[in-house]
Amino acid sequence: MQNKGTKYIFVVGGVISGVGKGIASSSLGLILKNRGLNVTAVKIDPYINVDAGTMNPTEHGEVFVLSDGDETDQDMGNYERFLGINLTRINYMTTGRVYQSVINRERNLEYKGKCVEVVPDIPLEVIGRIKKAGEMAGADVVIIEIGGTVGEYQNLIFLEAARMMKIEAPANVSFIMVSYFPTPGTIGEMKTKPTQYAVRTLNGAGIQPNILIARGSTNLDDKRKEKISMICNISSDKVISAPDVDSVYDIPLNFEKEHLSDKLCEIMGIVCQKPDEKEWIKWRNFAAYAHNGKEVIKIAMVGKYFETGDFILSDSYLSVIEAIKYSAYQEEKKPVISWLNSSDFEEHPEKIKDLLNYDGIIVPGGFGTRGVEGKILVAEFARKNKIPYFGLCYGMQMAVIEYARNVLGLKDANTREVNPDSKNIVIDVMESQKENLKTNHYGGSMRLGGYKALLQKGSIAHNAYKASEIIERHRHRYEVNPAFIADLEAKGLIFSGRSPDGVLMEIAELPREVHPFYLGTQYHPEFLARPLRPHPLFTAFIKACTNKK
Ligand code: GLN
Repeated sequence: MQNKGTKYIFVVGGVISGVGKGIASSSLGLILKNRGLNVTAVKIDPYINVDAGTMNPTEHGEVFVLSDGDETDQDMGNYERFLGINLTRINYMTTGRVYQSVINRERNLEYKGKCVEVVPDIPLEVIGRIKKAGEMAGADVVIIEIGGTVGEYQNLIFLEAARMMKIEAPANVSFIMVSYFPTPGTIGEMKTKPTQYAVRTLNGAGIQPNILIARGSTNLDDKRKEKISMICNISSDKVISAPDVDSVYDIPLNFEKEHLSDKLCEIMGIVCQKPDEKEWIKWRNFAAYAHNGKEVIKIAMVGKYFETGDFILSDSYLSVIEAIKYSAYQEEKKPVISWLNSSDFEEHPEKIKDLLNYDGIIVPGGFGTRGVEGKILVAEFARKNKIPYFGLCYGMQMAVIEYARNVLGLKDANTREVNPDSKNIVIDVMESQKENLKTNHYGGSMRLGGYKALLQKGSIAHNAYKASEIIERHRHRYEVNPAFIADLEAKGLIFSGRSPDGVLMEIAELPREVHPFYLGTQYHPEFLARPLRPHPLFTAFIKACTNKK
């Protein structure tokens, strides 16, 4: 490859948010990676929050945790999954984070007495971070997704950073706009005007897109392509249709049908390898499973973060859903996930029997009191009725509480998070977390990111991982209280994964003779599931669900 310096591709959104900029950016990354380029990605979120960790998932969607413990946006998960890479905190920034570093630097006198200004000092900080992300990855191409849509006050400063980068090195910076083309029901025709305005607004920030990705319910026809091309100054072959799809994993394939990687290489002025056929076939096969899964596996996901007004927002558990898919596809199964609100089982205990209709149950991560008793009922029902149960973080803690209550007979067993007055706090706050809670130090202070755990030979976990040592990503403040471990084990619960010092219980499971699959992890395995590398525990769960059928 003839590469004169790292190339930067900015991806911005037009018209509405939520049109799939993150998936588009990830897919661009994948098709370029497939041309032999080393690609990394940066996500910019324009809000003030320093990270995504303090936001309610129904506000923001899932909090995706990186190996280094950064609590980030779900798009970071998309990049990691599509590109098969691990990102770090330099790959993620927010307005809050950028200002925080500039202000810290000012306080340390690093600006040497100069007046520190919004422009250029804030964009310069943004640029510094983007370049560092590229350097750290040794990247040929850095894809930078600017959150939100053009025209929002919040992301102006980031567009300014992009414009400044372009001025500094015109040949190395290009722009893609992902915009939405509505087809209003009453008109029945796809409309281009909102996108025309969006491009004009981007032009107003001094930026001309090189490529326009046209999101909509259908393909953009030639007539509209030409119109957009003429009005927005983009040649019509650089206007790419991206209609709705059933499976996001088809998108890189669809992009390549439009020869997008060739077009990108042409715009970036680089010559790169032919597509890597071997890798491409793997992806194509994987993407095909999404459509070919034969047998349906019915999974109940019992949580609380999915109601937004009258709508269901499955985004809160995005990585869990994707992890289920990868393992199910590998087993040639078609997963069908039902969203069950745990509070519902508290109000209508008779509904618990409905769980018999499912092949498996997942209780994912969570916080706080609401819906907890419902989750405990679900853990009990799954245990007694031998329905495969997979608890992720809070879901594991719920299973332990249930066991303490109903097998050890500790009727008021609970987690300190919910009932600090309980006499049997089986899930207690970690020693290292006490000070944080006392001082209201909540942001970025949980036990976060990759930690090692040792697995017990012969356990379900050990058999699934085929390893005795693992590293998984965490996000929690509470842990199994060491005072109860001996009693829980004496009554049959196995802590098959522990921190290397033996203090923290990382996995709880029931022996296979007792239950086909009853397992909870204190960590979040979903963050390490990858399309071409399904997570072994999800695979073990899916196999158990299959057997239940
Ligand atoms: N609320 C629990 C804790 O902080 C579980 C967190 C989670 O599910 N991620 O320990």
